[in-house]
This record gives sequence, C-alpha cells and structure tokens, in this order.
Amino acid sequence: PERNADLRALIRTIPDFPKPGIAFRDITTLLLSPAGVATCIERMAAAVDGPVDLVAGIEARGFLFAAALAVPLRAGVLLIRKDGKLPGATIAEDYALEYGQDRIAIHADALVPGARVLLVDDLIATGGTARAALRLLRKAGGVVTQAQFVVDLPDLGGADRLRDDGITVHALVD
Ligand code: IMP
Repeated sequence: PERNADLRALIRTIPDFPKPGIAFRDITTLLLSPAGVATCIERMAAAVDGPVDLVAGIEARGFLFAAALAVPLRAGVLLIRKDGKLPGATIAEDYALEYGQDRIAIHADALVPGARVLLVDDLIATGGTARAALRLLRKAGGVVTQAQFVVDLPDLGGADRLRDDGITVHALVD
C-alpha cells in the first residue's frame, strides 16, 4: 500500500490555478477532515528527529501545521511572515519568484542563538521559499537541521536543493 494514501486522498488538485497550466494541490480539504488533521500532525510529529525549541512556519498555510506540531513537541512557534507585517524590528530575506521577487521576515530578536528550529510549510515545490526561510533562520543564529512539509512536488527539485543545504527533509505525500 502507498505511504500515507489516506492523507493523499484528502488533498485535491485544482487545474489552472493560480494560472493556466498549473495544477494546484489544495490542502484545505485535508484541513476540513477531523481525522485528516489529527493523522497529519501525528505523523509529522513522529518524523521529527530529536528535540526542537521552535517550530518555524511560513505564512500562511505553514502557520497552521507549525502551530499544531508545536503542541506535541512542546516547542514554541516562530512566524516567518511576508515582509511588512511584523510590528517590531525585523531581518528579511529576498527570494526569486517566476516573475519578480518576494521578501520574508522574522523579528530580529525572535531567536536565541543556538535555538534548534524545525522549518515547516504546507508544500515544497522549487524550494525557493523554504530555502529563503532557511537562510533567514540561519542568519538569525538558529540551528536548522530538519524541515517538514505535508506535500513535496519532487519533480520541481526543491526538497533535493534543501537537502544540499544540509537539511533532512520529510514530506508526508509526494
Ligand atoms: P516553492 O517556493 O516553489 O517551493 O513554492 C512553495 C510555496 O508556494 C509554499 O509556501 C506553498 O504554500 C506555495 N505553493 C506552491 N505551489 C503550491 C500548490 O500547488 N499548492 C499549495 N501551495 C503551493
């Protein structure tokens, strides 16, 4: 039997979103399922390697999984936000999009140097977002050795790029 087939069945594909030719993997259907949410978080938690101090979630869907995962891990939650949203002094990191660029930020004082941080998002595609988050967390003094996603799109190579950055990458569904 296929790994995590139960969770895969709760994720739907929306064709031509956000633009023609893109098959969007939609996890809102998984979130609507009580069993889906619980199973997803239990399996993510079981795959965590060693103690973590903070679970860092990427805005916006990453927040959901990071917060839920932080509870069984007894860890704190660190918000990696789109630039301009955080009220305090921030550090930021730019990353390339298909057209143009984007910027993510964290509070400059969010991390005690040496804090062990687990990076979490709903999905990894090219890895551009997660790798920018990794640079940001490392710049802030975080020790990041692992990342977790609900979905990996392996053909886009992001998980492999993150592994090249020294990260153990775990995803529930390919
Ligand atoms: P990447 O930077 O190319 O790896 O894209 C990953 C980021 O874009 C994550 O923050 C995802 O939430 C979002 N993303 C890209 N493609 C999809 C998709 O098919 N479904 C849900 N989110 C996606």
